[in-house]
Amino acid sequence: MMLGRRRRRTFPGRLLVIVILAICLVVVWVRFTNAKKTKEAAVATAITSANQLRQGYFYEEALQALADSGYPSEEEIVALQQEIEAQQSSLVEYDGDFYHVFFHSLVVYPELAFDGDYKAEGYNMWMTTVSEFRAMLPQLYERDFILYPLDLIRENQPVMLPPGKKPLIISIDDVNYYDYMEGDGFAERLLVDENGEIVCEVVTPEGETELSYHGDVMPILDGFVKEHPDFSFRGAKGVVAVTGYEGAFGYNFIDVEGEAKQKLMEEATRVATALKNTGWLIACHSYTHNDYFKDGMVSNEDLHYDTNRFKERIYDVVLQPDIYISPFGYHLHEGDERLMYLKNMGYTYFCPVSTAMRTLFTEEGVVISERFNLDRYNMRNQTEFINETFFDVDSVYYKN
Ligand SMILES: [Zn+2]
Repeated sequence: MMLGRRRRRTFPGRLLVIVILAICLVVVWVRFTNAKKTKEAAVATAITSANQLRQGYFYEEALQALADSGYPSEEEIVALQQEIEAQQSSLVEYDGDFYHVFFHSLVVYPELAFDGDYKAEGYNMWMTTVSEFRAMLPQLYERDFILYPLDLIRENQPVMLPPGKKPLIISIDDVNYYDYMEGDGFAERLLVDENGEIVCEVVTPEGETELSYHGDVMPILDGFVKEHPDFSFRGAKGVVAVTGYEGAFGYNFIDVEGEAKQKLMEEATRVATALKNTGWLIACHSYTHNDYFKDGMVSNEDLHYDTNRFKERIYDVVLQPDIYISPFGYHLHEGDERLMYLKNMGYTYFCPVSTAMRTLFTEEGVVISERFNLDRYNMRNQTEFINETFFDVDSVYYKN
């Protein structure tokens, strides 16, 4: 009897099956390891960005980054999520005073500023050097100050901070780099670098023009916050105040016409935009900084003239500020029609100078934030107060 011939696979047939199986295995393995790698990368990215965000008190955003990872139930993600939630719920309502300090543009080269000419004495009173400002920052940080956005201060709005932290507002007046300061060791103007960050143009004592990240308060503070993200509440930096009669930020678009004017205005707006994008607020510091502001008795007429000039010539260029930093630090009190006038002109924040550093909410709907000058005059004359409140003067003060 003939048995049916069992069909036997030929040798090449078997090989084919083996090869196909092997390919399938490889595909499955590659897919598996790729998926694993993708997952690991996604988890790592989410953790890095959540950690960065939470250090700057962006808790909701940090939790969102974890949720967006695509692996919300991954062990590491869950652990970090719980940590962030615990941190967020540990914030307490701050009920102390706000601290508001201010500077003028920093002296980059003291040998040029304090050179004994007729301006040196003024600089030695109302200015602060780069070395002094840089020495203050770590001490302010150590003493639990935290940069807080002025525009978040509103009546009946709780200020939620980590326990022990104190809100600090920093403002800088006259960030115009006036003509009269040329050659005196200050920055000459602000520029925006390729990363959208503020950088100063300075002229060295040797006459070289350079870009510097240590040329004024803004880039120095930007750098410090980058290294210490927990020094800034949700990216807050400070307030940059400008007058208008020589343009802003070192771009004098007032004294030119036509195309040149347009170009300089655009440059100034570019700087204003970069400042805003990096956590800075902009303030009006009057248009003229005229002596009629000096004694706090400015007439309605002069105030209207000056404020209108600012509105016509510079307000839009510097992106319509709602903060008014008074020239010479003059004070206006609740019920003063000039305060109402400023409110009607769009200024919700009014910042005079007073050592008391009170924050007042007026019936006009204006927030008054009093400021204290951390300049060389006060370091010499209010040493004890500064030692107690902000930093050890002796370790900061530049001895010329
Ligand atoms: Zn001023």
